[in-house]
Amino acid sequence: MIDSGAGKILEEARPPSVDVMINSHCHIDHVWDNSLFVNARIVTHPLEKENFKDHAKIGSIENWKKYIPEDLDQILALMGAANPAFLGRWCIDGTIDEGDVIDAGRTKIQVLHMPGHTTGHLTFFFPDEGLLFCGDICLTKVGPWYGDGATPVVAFIASIDRILALKPDRVVSGHNKEVLSAPFIPGVFAEYRERIYQRDDRILAALQESPTTLDELAARKLIYPAHPSILVVYWEKAMIVKHLDRLMTQGAITGDEQGRFFAL
Ligand SMILES: [Zn+2]
Repeated sequence: MIDSGAGKILEEARPPSVDVMINSHCHIDHVWDNSLFVNARIVTHPLEKENFKDHAKIGSIENWKKYIPEDLDQILALMGAANPAFLGRWCIDGTIDEGDVIDAGRTKIQVLHMPGHTTGHLTFFFPDEGLLFCGDICLTKVGPWYGDGATPVVAFIASIDRILALKPDRVVSGHNKEVLSAPFIPGVFAEYRERIYQRDDRILAALQESPTTLDELAARKLIYPAHPSILVVYWEKAMIVKHLDRLMTQGAITGDEQGRFFAL
């Protein structure tokens, strides 16, 4: 079984009967019920195994203290209240990596390392079925998420490009129920990738209007059109930072010591 964050439908998988639980990455919504898989060997990418040691990374809020004044411990406690297992020790029994092939009996699973969402984010290709499970390259309406602290946005773009080059017959992503078939895959992923470039453009346009701080940019909601919770404000900032890094590398902007950014 891949990922345990399946919600109510999880019972149908009869967790005690599962012998291998593969985690595509460490985020709480994918690993929520790992602890129910009492007889499973739990495996993930080596970089994700490291990420599992940090509750803030599991909660996708690893740079919280840098960007948000509210107390990190309070937010972690809220996550722990929703799932007591969250604040415990996460047990990973082994690792899998790019090139590994998992023999699942009636089918085989090729392990593909596609970073960008997190450092060790994995996708899985089923060659006999021509099917790719692309995890949190998630194809949801809100668009790509790359708010972790360690992976540049260009890694996310490279992973999308890799999916396009792979030309799978079908694709399933981590947060959509639809199975995408071959004729639609190039268009859907190209549009998904385009949203990253549009975010670049919006941030650059804002800086061309006036020098601006990260907080001011975030208040303009250039990534997420609504900020229903402090968590989304954090993600907005964590992702704007990725674009600022990228625009700086491209020589399009610069920054000063007061934390303002300028278009060049
Ligand atoms: Zn995720």
